[in-house]
Amino acid sequence: MDNNIINFDDVIFADLHIHSRFSRACSSNLTFENLVKWAKIKGLNLLGTGDFTHPIWLNEIKAKLIEKDGFYYYNDFPFIISGEISLMYSQEGPVGTNFTSEIRRGRRIHLLMLVPNIEIADKINAYLDTKGRRDYDGRPIFKISGEEFVREMMKISKDIEIIPAHCWTPWFGIFGSASGFDSLKECFKEQIENVHAIETGMSSDPEMNWRIKELENKSIVSFSDAHSFWPFRLGREATIFKKTDFYKEIIEQIRNNTFVATIETDPAYGKYHWDGHRACKFSCEPNKTKELKEICPVCKKQLTIGVENRIERLAYYPKGFRAKNEKPFYRLLPLQEVIALAVGSGLESKSVWQVYNLLIENFENEFNILLNVSREEFLKKNVDIKLADLIIKNREEKIKIKPGYDGEYGKAVIGIGERQAIL
Ligand SMILES: [Zn+2]
Ligand SMILES: [Zn+2]
Repeated sequence: MDNNIINFDDVIFADLHIHSRFSRACSSNLTFENLVKWAKIKGLNLLGTGDFTHPIWLNEIKAKLIEKDGFYYYNDFPFIISGEISLMYSQEGPVGTNFTSEIRRGRRIHLLMLVPNIEIADKINAYLDTKGRRDYDGRPIFKISGEEFVREMMKISKDIEIIPAHCWTPWFGIFGSASGFDSLKECFKEQIENVHAIETGMSSDPEMNWRIKELENKSIVSFSDAHSFWPFRLGREATIFKKTDFYKEIIEQIRNNTFVATIETDPAYGKYHWDGHRACKFSCEPNKTKELKEICPVCKKQLTIGVENRIERLAYYPKGFRAKNEKPFYRLLPLQEVIALAVGSGLESKSVWQVYNLLIENFENEFNILLNVSREEFLKKNVDIKLADLIIKNREEKIKIKPGYDGEYGKAVIGIGERQAIL
């Protein structure tokens, strides 16, 4: 995307879908101190708190953050109260293909919630307490339908924003192949008008979502769903808003589709882009899956159907269609992935961290490095010329990705000849 569209002084980079250390599979160092430290290194200006449904994390929110206009500040850094809920229930209607009738009816969807203030967070929690427990995981599970949940939330406050999270992932996405729906309407029924946006998740980008007719009137936003504060997780996907200090204005920008742009990873980088079986080390594109009749050639069981395939099935418009609600978006790999490619070692290796820290020292934050700094400026500060070129290549969306599948992340690759030229 053309960077000139955005004046960086007029916008905020927001990651509103993250988790606390009380969510399963999350880093135990996920504290406000660390979140703020790493958000600043990443170049984020606004975070979701994550996990407001968790009693201990909510107590920390209450004790450590100070409210002003619906933003909750840790020192000078603003948060919005946010959380994610997992709804598991059964509902009539077809889903996916070739599933047994028992699985056919089970629905599992994740919804991101943005909440205007602590009082309303308390009211939501009181409602959830009538339905089950919320102290065992930062992302608690309830047997409530999507429709009922949105209706109940709107009774509590019209300012609560509910966004289907990572909406295409097979297991917990609202459009997921394994336990989702074929449309938002099927899930939310008449409550669909109170759902204004979907989160793309890593395995899809806005362009893929523009093909879905039902999403023409919805906003397409992006957040990371990070389970740690490391900068290759936090903010790996994000939404760029017009600058504001008010919760209400963030919500309005989502509802009116007036935010500025989104940051996406290449959808192939996501863990569910293609079809396949992780344990069988087998993956393939949707056409091949059709040829195989969805059966894994290794173990002969049903393949996990990924996001590209699912979009192909539900798409109304052809590939390349430009939706009238389209927003510009950047397709970027996290900086550490780019450095790892350049130095030829692992994402979290010492040598990658050394280069990363040096870049941050020189150029302020990661988004500035990924989006703004020119080749000349890199070279002036003695950044390795091959790394500088690779950062520019990332900006121009020219790094190839071997698609992820069945829970396995996609991998950045460069051709063998190219790689030798870099090292
Ligand atoms: Zn989720
Ligand atoms: Zn298999």
